[in-house]
Amino acid sequence: MGTTSFQGRDSARAHPFRKVIGSGQFPSTRTPVLTTAMVSAGRGATESEVCRESARVGLVKPLVISHPACFLHRNSPGHPERPARIEAALIGARSWGGEVDEREAALASKADLSLVHDPVYVDAIEEFCREGGGELDPDTGAVPGTWEAARRAAGAGLVAIEAIQAGASPVAFLAIRPPGHHAHAARALGFCIFNNIAIAAERLVSEGARVAIVDYDVHHGDGTQETFGARSDVLYVSLHEYPFYPGSGWLEEVGHGQGTGRTVNIPLPPGTAGDAIEQAFTRIVIPVVAQFTPDWILVSAGYDGHRADPLADWVLEADDYGRMARHLSHFGVPVIYFLEGGYEYDAIVASVAATLQGAAGADFPTPTGVSPGVAVEMVETSAAQAGKHWNGVQGG
Ligand SMILES: [Zn+2]
Repeated sequence: MGTTSFQGRDSARAHPFRKVIGSGQFPSTRTPVLTTAMVSAGRGATESEVCRESARVGLVKPLVISHPACFLHRNSPGHPERPARIEAALIGARSWGGEVDEREAALASKADLSLVHDPVYVDAIEEFCREGGGELDPDTGAVPGTWEAARRAAGAGLVAIEAIQAGASPVAFLAIRPPGHHAHAARALGFCIFNNIAIAAERLVSEGARVAIVDYDVHHGDGTQETFGARSDVLYVSLHEYPFYPGSGWLEEVGHGQGTGRTVNIPLPPGTAGDAIEQAFTRIVIPVVAQFTPDWILVSAGYDGHRADPLADWVLEADDYGRMARHLSHFGVPVIYFLEGGYEYDAIVASVAATLQGAAGADFPTPTGVSPGVAVEMVETSAAQAGKHWNGVQGG
């Protein structure tokens, strides 16, 4: 019922898309709250620890990676996944409160794409774009410029990996489109053509790394889950609205074979706010990632869970994204944020800025949103499920 297609949802609900507006109209981003909250939260940090953490906020210079070609990809007229999203993400990244190190995405090669995708599918996408494009699935379009855009979107992660390995920064944000987490090995789906985050994860695994993927896009990343479902070297943790598009992501989907337990789904209902997300992080995401001991954390950073987003029903605030990023910064390993969804211009600007603040070590106040009781119950149920495979998680 209406959960199988973005278009189905959209037609039932007016698009409150705003026209792209000039500079000066963007919401002022919040001033980062430095680590005094660490002390008041009872962590017992010493003054020197606080100073060290505060210093990190000033020292981190996130990599911001994009490419003009990402503006060339087009879906059908009026489609919510549109080029202005990249502009919003870049404005948000540049306004986080510190410096950024901006670089252009490389062009992923066919061999790079084939780390995840069937080479026949890769060739078919190239040919489809060259012949003028059209609809790849009911929600996913392509034009001639899509071929380069999709290869730049996939190549951004590879640039980030190399720059981080060279010591440029521990944090990267990728302002890319088309997004990737619904893309399967041989199938475009839900605005996605190539699975950008999965390709980066495969590159890292090929170098011997352990990779944790955290997906907070409001939709379940079915393509990513399928890619790594049988694998022990990649952890996939997803928080998503459920029941909802694309229909997958229930608790019992835990991976299979050697990957059993390495897929952790946290399905949360409409109305989910920052309080339930914070509980999900402290109860499940943080203990699971800690026990997995990744060398890298890759994030499917979708901002369609924001309360202003027209496609979904969560009510997150920009600060809630900052808080998640702050949690992930604690692991002391590189973190790369891949833009996935997010369809409200101002919400993207504010949420991306908050993400980089959190990634740089800024603390955020206690969540203000109040979730329905069923969301809290779902966190407990998800914790009980995760506890079957992760002894660091205390089941309900
Ligand atoms: Zn999404």
